[in-house]
Amino acid sequence: MPEHSDVFSETAELIRSIGKKYKYKEDVLEAFIAPNRVIEVSLPIKINGKIKVLKGFRAQHNNSRGPYKGGIRFHEEVDRAEVKALSLWMTLKTAIAGLAYGGAKGGVVVNPKELSEKELEYLSKEYVRKIFDVIGPTTDIPAPDVNTNPKIINWMVEEYVKIAKDKGLNFSEEALYGTFTGKSIENHGLSGREEATGYGGAVILNALAKKLGKKPSKTSVVVQGFGNVGYYFSQFAQDSGFKIVAVSDSKGGVTDKEAGFTNGLDIEKVYACKLEKGKISDCYCVGGVCDITQGKGLTNEELLELEADILVPSALGNVITSENMHKIKAKAIIEMANGPISPEAHEYLSKKGIIIVPDILANSAGVTASYLEWRQNVQGVKMTNEQVLKELKNILEKAFNKVWREAEDKKEDLRYASYGIAFKKLLGNP
Ligand code: NAD
Repeated sequence: MPEHSDVFSETAELIRSIGKKYKYKEDVLEAFIAPNRVIEVSLPIKINGKIKVLKGFRAQHNNSRGPYKGGIRFHEEVDRAEVKALSLWMTLKTAIAGLAYGGAKGGVVVNPKELSEKELEYLSKEYVRKIFDVIGPTTDIPAPDVNTNPKIINWMVEEYVKIAKDKGLNFSEEALYGTFTGKSIENHGLSGREEATGYGGAVILNALAKKLGKKPSKTSVVVQGFGNVGYYFSQFAQDSGFKIVAVSDSKGGVTDKEAGFTNGLDIEKVYACKLEKGKISDCYCVGGVCDITQGKGLTNEELLELEADILVPSALGNVITSENMHKIKAKAIIEMANGPISPEAHEYLSKKGIIIVPDILANSAGVTASYLEWRQNVQGVKMTNEQVLKELKNILEKAFNKVWREAEDKKEDLRYASYGIAFKKLLGNP
């Protein structure tokens, strides 16, 4: 896993190299790379009776296309370089999806698992009090990210609305709720937000299979990670007829390779078994007794190296690197996690002809659903689950097809094309 400062430098380097090929001037690219501002705040909080001053950040990278947009993570390893890099990715991601948003990211340096519920609520609200002046429904719209969830966002929005009312801000109450997305459905949230990212990934999978001329029933798919993204992705992909031949969580996975990838796993059964046993690697056949039809346990390393049509890393960053890139046998990779392939591995696999759908396109349904939630709040018009999924499908298919055409046109890979499209939207023609 690279240091966070490396993630920012690597992304900046990529922008310089792709931007140069698109004929953007060096100074224009440097001005684009630099975030508009990074705010650092002190968050004093009483933990076990003693005041501790935690550090928080909000990086606002670019708002040339609309309000800043991006999640807030609570993690011990959050630092300035990481939020800067993630805010830059958000600027690219929202541009590729064609949303009227810019890019931002926030974070607090904390292990939330060490806090009591009361302390966590206090911290969430204190963070809002400290960044209140720089966020708002038309300014900067935060959302959940690593270790933050609808419950935390509900606390944050509650505090935001309270202060905004005290200050007499000129927005309707519903619009004020639009300052945060990822709220619970009952608290001005969006029906469909939970499954959005995985669903969007399955839309991309269908679009990719179509381009490759592959029938879903004849396409084997391997998914690493079985959390929010991996589970819904697998479920929707299976509903479209694809064969999910292996899935995993942090403890390992299961595959039906022994059975020759004949039917694929039954995702509902894997889910039920994981709920019951706590980990997927315990869900396989012992003798003639099978929890999930036919299956065999395997490690996460083995899973990545399976000979299947499409590999879908949906857990962590940097799981495919110079260490294991030579062993990857999939014909295409959909990056549902953020940054699962290191730059070196990306170059190697791309040169080998492996198609890689980049994270900034593949997992963009999450931020697109956030956009729909915000629009619902600021316009005061509620969307049904069906309407949400339909609109996500339209936006994602359009973005994918645009990137695919650009890649064909420029004879480059999909990441190159995605960046090129983002540059055109953000910087105009070179
Ligand atoms: P999650 O916490 O719900 O699930 C993560 C999954 O990864 C879990 O199944 C966990 O067991 C598994 N995992 C953890 N360590 C692992 C390891 N070493 N090997 C294999 N599996 C491991 O998280 P999520 O919301 O599903 O997010 C997954 C990825 O997608 C992250 O990179 C996240 O940044 C990205 N992402 C998520 C969203 C979203 O809307 N949730 C949007 C965009 C991008």
